[in-house]
Amino acid sequence: MAETKTAPILIVGSGAWGLSTALHLTNAGYRNVTVFDRASEIPSRYSAGYDLNKIVRAEYEDPFYTDLALESIRGWRTPLFGPYYHQTGYVVATSGRAPQKAITHLNEALGSIKEHPVFKPFISSLDKPQDFLDLFWQFRGPVTGFKGYFNRYAGYAHSSNAMKGIHHYLAGRGVKFVLGPEQGKVTELLYAQQDTRRTCTGIKTADGIHHSAQRVICCLGAYQAELLPKIGSFNVAKSWSVAHVQLTEAECDLLRGIPVINVRDLGFFFEPDPATRLLKLCPLGAGYINTDKKTGISLPPLDALPPPQDYIPAEDEEKLRRLLRETLPWLADRAFVDQKMCWFADTADSEYCIDFVPDTNNSVIVLSGDSGHGFKMMPVVGSWVVDLLNKGEQRLPRWQWRRSDVKTGNDWGDAVSWRIGTQKEIREVIEERERMVKARL
Ligand SMILES: Cc1cc2nc3c(=O)[nH]c(=O)nc-3n(C[C@H](O)[C@H](O)[C@H](O)COP(=O)(O)OP(=O)(O)OC[C@H]3O[C@@H](n4cnc5c(N)ncnc54)[C@H](O)[C@@H]3O)c2cc1C
Repeated sequence: MAETKTAPILIVGSGAWGLSTALHLTNAGYRNVTVFDRASEIPSRYSAGYDLNKIVRAEYEDPFYTDLALESIRGWRTPLFGPYYHQTGYVVATSGRAPQKAITHLNEALGSIKEHPVFKPFISSLDKPQDFLDLFWQFRGPVTGFKGYFNRYAGYAHSSNAMKGIHHYLAGRGVKFVLGPEQGKVTELLYAQQDTRRTCTGIKTADGIHHSAQRVICCLGAYQAELLPKIGSFNVAKSWSVAHVQLTEAECDLLRGIPVINVRDLGFFFEPDPATRLLKLCPLGAGYINTDKKTGISLPPLDALPPPQDYIPAEDEEKLRRLLRETLPWLADRAFVDQKMCWFADTADSEYCIDFVPDTNNSVIVLSGDSGHGFKMMPVVGSWVVDLLNKGEQRLPRWQWRRSDVKTGNDWGDAVSWRIGTQKEIREVIEERERMVKARL
């Protein structure tokens, strides 16, 4: 397909990856870029990044992703992204009750960076519980059996603020945004057939309007299979729990500057957000899916915000309370607020999918399969799209559209070392919730 930089390009989805794509296309000289999103404002409440914070770290067992994440951290450390990046450092640990898989993963992650020329000066090992307490005087829990390391070349991004800020920046650079449940929600990709070739000619939005384009770039996160159902065979909408503790002003000040702490068998938490005084926590596990029995495709439930809200699975709550008892015990029994299930796009091997969609004459590009580790890449994701356009094909096999179906099953999460446990259907969580509510009546 001949490329002209003034031909209309439509990006569907204004999450971290859609915005990054708009940024890099603009930097590469594309001058007719429009972003559509079903939400009325950015950040979209449907985005996996509609959140206070996401870990930015570069330790991976696979050096391919370590290098990408390092490049991205350089991007976070620039005036454009810097206001949203907080290099507080990152502690990775296992508790005394951790399964072997968690210990092995920690050692492999450490192995990927401890001799790395960039990281070496920033890594210190935490061999025993007292090492944690010496370093983090705010921790008053027993940190029973904790072992791990501290990586100072890492931290977190304020994800909602990053998306808001980059949206404003792009609007100022001439990128058009069409937002809202009518004008912004894309319901269909439109195709024209010529001989045996099918080419996408644009999109249809919920208000029935057709928008023509030379190329459509789909960045719908967990919702990708709504527009590209075939991706559902290897790309699964999955959710993890998120919960928060409301702090007082003094508590928030007390915890200012703490690193992100990730206890591989329990979960992780961040420095509290000074604006809301919320301390965000996420349990670690294999996650929850929502498979349609007829199609076999997992998509987030309903057309609104996914239920259940203000509730997380009991097993996740238990993990988070244990995490707090071990570290910040005075918070361990406090009510969790703003609890939610947060949806992302998962692949069995945790590899992204950045490719032309087959049978579209290269007119549709898909960015998906963030697999729960994609926010940190926000500064660089769009450069992969520019690269794809320049090369005209995806030369990295790991990021190609998967040609064969990958069967989903409860061992889906097991293929990836940093997911511990077994994935479940979200309806099991909803049923459990209903049983608990009935039992209380
Ligand atoms: C609990 C949790 C914790 C995470 N922690 C981390 C972390 O610590 N570090 C990290 O790097 N990553 C983390 N992630 C992953 C990260 O959030 C994702 O990788 C990232 O947000 C993916 O960005 P995206 O743009 O692909 O998708 P999203 O940000 O989900 O954006 C998709 C966009 O598509 C829009 N959309 C959907 N359907 C339509 C439609 N029909 N028409 C128009 N617009 C539509 C949505 O409104 C949304 O704006 C975490 C994810 C979860 C769920």
